[in-house]
Amino acid sequence: MGSLQLKSVRKSFGNVDVIKGIDLDVQDGEFVIFVGPSGCGKSTLLRIIAGLEDATSGSISIDGTEVATVPPAKRGIAMVFQSYALYPHLTVKDNMGLGLKQAGTPKAEIESRVDKASNMLSLDKYLARRPAELSGGQRQRVAIGRAIVREPKLFLFDEPLSNLDAALRVNTRLEIARLHRELKATMIYVTHDQVEAMTLADKIVVLDAGVIQQIGSPMELYNRPANLFVAGFIGSPA
Ligand code: ADP
Ligand code: MG
Repeated sequence: MGSLQLKSVRKSFGNVDVIKGIDLDVQDGEFVIFVGPSGCGKSTLLRIIAGLEDATSGSISIDGTEVATVPPAKRGIAMVFQSYALYPHLTVKDNMGLGLKQAGTPKAEIESRVDKASNMLSLDKYLARRPAELSGGQRQRVAIGRAIVREPKLFLFDEPLSNLDAALRVNTRLEIARLHRELKATMIYVTHDQVEAMTLADKIVVLDAGVIQQIGSPMELYNRPANLFVAGFIGSPA
C-alpha cells in the first residue's frame, strides 16, 4: 500500500502562488521523480504531501483516504532531506531508532528494525558512532535508515544526494534503487539531476513555476518531450 493522489493542489505564500494546480496519480510501488529548476516548488510539494505544509486548496489522498486532517506522523510517510538532519549527540543507532522510541515502539522491536535497516545499508559497524565520526555518504545512509525503520508505505526524498561528491552520489543512487526493489515501497524523489531522474524513475514529473509541464516514463519524455522546456531539461535532441 502506498498510492497517492493529488487533485488541484495549490499553495500560496502570502500573495505568491507557488503551486498552481497539480493533479497527480502515483501507484503503489512506483518510483516517481520530480524534476524542475530551483524554486519551481518541488520541496513545497513534498512538504505538502508529508503534511509539513498545508495546501491552500485541493486534496491529497493516500491509499484512497483524504489526509488533510491526518497529522504527518500518521500518514505512513517518511522523508529524507538533503541535509541529513541527524542529532549530533546521539549515536547512529539512537538516531535511527529515535522516531520509533517517540512513537512508543517496544525496545525489542526497535532493536530488530534498526538491525535490519543497518544491515541493508551496511551500517552495522557504525552503530555506536556519532554523526561527526561519519563521512557524508554514511550520514546520508543513516538518514535513509531512519526512514526505513519506520516502515513507511511512502518515502519522500528531497535531493538526497546533492551534498555528496560524485562517486558517492553514484553509489548511493544505486543503493536507493536497490532499496526500492527490496522494500517495494512507493518512492517520490526530488532532484535536479537528469541522470538520477532517467535512471531511477518509473515516471518523471517535470515541473516549472508550480505547474506540471509533462508526466511520463524517462523514454517517453526523452523521445516525445511536450515542449522545449522539457526537451531542454531532459536533454533530448531538439
Ligand atoms: P524548489 O524545491 O523547487 O527549489 P521550493 O518549493 O523550495 O522550490 O520553493 C518554491 C518557491 O516558494 C520559491 O520561490 C520559494 O522562495 C517559495 N517558498 C518556499 N517556502 C516558502 C515559505 N515558507 N514562505 C515563503 N515562500 C516560500
Ligand atoms: Mg527544494
